[in-house]
Amino acid sequence: MAAIIDGKKISGQIKDELKEKVSALKKEGKTGALAVIQVGSDPASSVYVRNKKNACAYIGIESLAYELPEETSEKELLGLIEELNEKEEVRGILVQLPLPPHIDEGKVILAIRPEKDVDGFHPQSVGSMVIGEKGFVSCTPAGVIQLLKRSGVEIEGKRCVVVGRSNIVGKPMALLMLRENATVTIAHSRTKNLPELCRQADILIVAVGKPQMIGTEYVREGAVVIDVGIHRNADNKLCGDVKFDEVEKIASAITPVPGGVGPMTIAMLMANCVQSIEEG
Ligand code: NDP
Repeated sequence: MAAIIDGKKISGQIKDELKEKVSALKKEGKTGALAVIQVGSDPASSVYVRNKKNACAYIGIESLAYELPEETSEKELLGLIEELNEKEEVRGILVQLPLPPHIDEGKVILAIRPEKDVDGFHPQSVGSMVIGEKGFVSCTPAGVIQLLKRSGVEIEGKRCVVVGRSNIVGKPMALLMLRENATVTIAHSRTKNLPELCRQADILIVAVGKPQMIGTEYVREGAVVIDVGIHRNADNKLCGDVKFDEVEKIASAITPVPGGVGPMTIAMLMANCVQSIEEG
């Protein structure tokens, strides 16, 4: 049976460390706020936004909430971002995605100043990560690295397969594993012989967005399996991209859904905010 990689516990440890850091920074006179912008009232986005505000309150940083109506124009949103870019006390700007279809997400991401881009989505942040320079790293992949390190999984020299190549998960994930000296293969919907390829992995990271697609035929005995996927099944229960019940029998370690990668994303967002306050 696999060891369970407990994202709830590890994210809790990270938030406690950050809480201490925030209180030390306050003593040095360093404070700052995270601005969270939501356009429209998509229920899933509202939950994420609420969780982010709660996390800020927990670690002791201020959050400024901007809840804008669905019909907000792109110009108005860009105007608000420009205003927040100029505000000294705002150290992080986060625009909850997805945005309504009449707003160009690319333009919005580009409008956030890279030094306040705590989501790590700005092309400058992505470029810095590619060449190994300082900058914000997108939160979910950064969270996976922390899960592995804090669970004692050695990355260096290991063969890693990342299934999925999206800009927010798969690609940055692969680059971060490369930075940690793994030998990395990126798989996607056109990859041939996917189960065979995945079976070569010491560390298999799945961000495919397909409920319970990955069963034992994709997993080598003793591999570490990280499941980034989040879905609701027919019974309205959360599940991942991996068939947890069967894969846990052959993996050496595995993340559950819920309670694996999910909680790490917000913890790493908080880490980026604290880094921004520290550097501000
Ligand atoms: P996307 O849909 O943007 O990307 C999915 C990727 O999987 C694509 O690169 C696609 O390939 C690839 N893919 C799709 N089908 C197959 C297949 N049959 N075989 C091989 N590859 C395939 O999803 P995201 O990266 O945004 O998210 C992935 C999952 O992670 C989702 O379940 C999402 O909900 C979850 N997620 C969880 C987060 C968390 O905090 N835990 C945060 C962000 C996402 P191609 O490029 O060829 O189309």
